Amino acid sequence: MFKRSTCQCCRLPTLLSSDGFEPCTVCGWDDTRLEDGLTPETAREHLLQNGPANQTAETALSNPARMELIAYAMSVLNGHEKLDSALLESLLLADEMAQDF
Ligand SMILES: [Zn+2]
Repeated sequence: MFKRSTCQCCRLPTLLSSDGFEPCTVCGWDDTRLEDGLTPETAREHLLQNGPANQTAETALSNPARMELIAYAMSVLNGHEKLDSALLESLLLADEMAQDF
């Protein structure tokens, strides 16, 4: 199993690198957004209210694994489910495999 770094915005362990430049699969955060004046805290509020802005209808059609991942992540973020790291990991891996096609 990969050791993942925690995303500053959604605070889920989604990142394979910790350099800050890998966009989070769940919320789309990366550190370049700091240059636009956005903070992880502000982005997190938007995320909790509106869901991930980086996930489009096209994503849903082309990558059902991504939608499953987002649905689970949002349910954890909203406190409906406890974080199960093994489940999150398997959803992240399914999403990464789906992107290879
Ligand atoms: Zn994130």
